[in-house]
Amino acid sequence: MPEPFTHVGLASRVVLGAGSLDEVAAEVDLLGVDRVLLIATRSARDWADLVQRSLGDRFAGRIDEVRQHVPKEKADAARAKAAEVGATGIVAIGGGSAIGLAKAIAPTTGLPIIAVPTTYSGSEMTPVWGQTDDGEKTTGTDLKVLPRTVIYDPILTRDLPLKITAASVANALAHCVEATWTDKADPITEVTAVEAARALREGLLQTLQSPTDLEARSNLLYGASLAGSALASAGTGIHHKLCHLLGGTYNLPHAETHAAVLPQVTRVKAPEVTRAKARLEAALETDDLATGLFELFTQAEVPTSLRELGLTEQQAAEAAQRVHAKTTIDVSEILHRAWEGTAP
Ligand code: NAD
Repeated sequence: MPEPFTHVGLASRVVLGAGSLDEVAAEVDLLGVDRVLLIATRSARDWADLVQRSLGDRFAGRIDEVRQHVPKEKADAARAKAAEVGATGIVAIGGGSAIGLAKAIAPTTGLPIIAVPTTYSGSEMTPVWGQTDDGEKTTGTDLKVLPRTVIYDPILTRDLPLKITAASVANALAHCVEATWTDKADPITEVTAVEAARALREGLLQTLQSPTDLEARSNLLYGASLAGSALASAGTGIHHKLCHLLGGTYNLPHAETHAAVLPQVTRVKAPEVTRAKARLEAALETDDLATGLFELFTQAEVPTSLRELGLTEQQAAEAAQRVHAKTTIDVSEILHRAWEGTAP
């Protein structure tokens, strides 16, 4: 019997399948949107062209320039563009950066978002927004930014380079692991996180063998969706706090930062959640969660040190100092080990 709990599930419509990009226009109609602002990462330009054509006169305007961590000036420009073209909805095609820019428009306008993810960041399943201003990343939660519809088409991710794929999977695994130890974690988020981890590992190993295999890519999107939804309900904890601080302050790449920090945080935090730890270990087929994650990332050739991402030892110490007062765990040691890339 589970212990008593309260779970908040977030409502979104999820469509997953090869060729589902063709459904965008129909999904736009289902939401009653008649003027679409299309936001697309440059790497998804060809897919965005297809969607633009399929929208016909529902197409109102387009933004092709997106950057990680949503710089404030990009967010301001996107909000102005949405107003200028009279958008009644947004279609965002790309990774967490494209979806993040759409999320920057939603709080003030209430415009519904249809997300078409091309990475495994999971942002499309969460009501979490982020923005960076002058090296300071702010994040918040607002149900208005939760995409109303998510369209997962594995064909769009078939050519995602292995390096980006593997780092992005590390980002998704970070959602799974952190979703088991936050204050809001519950049995439903735990079971979702465990199934997500299983699918992500299976999908990653398949993808390493056969990068364009659609079954492998579908597994990864399925895992990323569950991982995002577990995090959306469980909320973020110390691991995400550290990664947001590092990304916003030192402009480190988001997914790779997760890969370097996660095994080190897991070594300290996972023993607090013994049942979830054991379940995640079973899902990842490892005897020790932190080591299993580290070895999986190493096998997939994801950098496992912050040093490789360009952070200096002094910056790692400085970052630890900034979160030191907000946590009871030894962040200095965690960030030092993450900087060195020491096996956990
Ligand atoms: P990203 O969107 O910046 O994409 C990473 C790289 O992959 C980019 O160079 C992009 O051009 C390329 N790319 C994307 N799709 C591609 C494809 N199909 N083929 C080839 N190249 C492709 O990075 P990301 O890791 O997806 O997202 C990171 C951002 O998302 C950060 O700003 C992070 O804070 C945010 N994020 C937010 C949440 C949330 O819940 N709010 C969750 C995760 C990440």
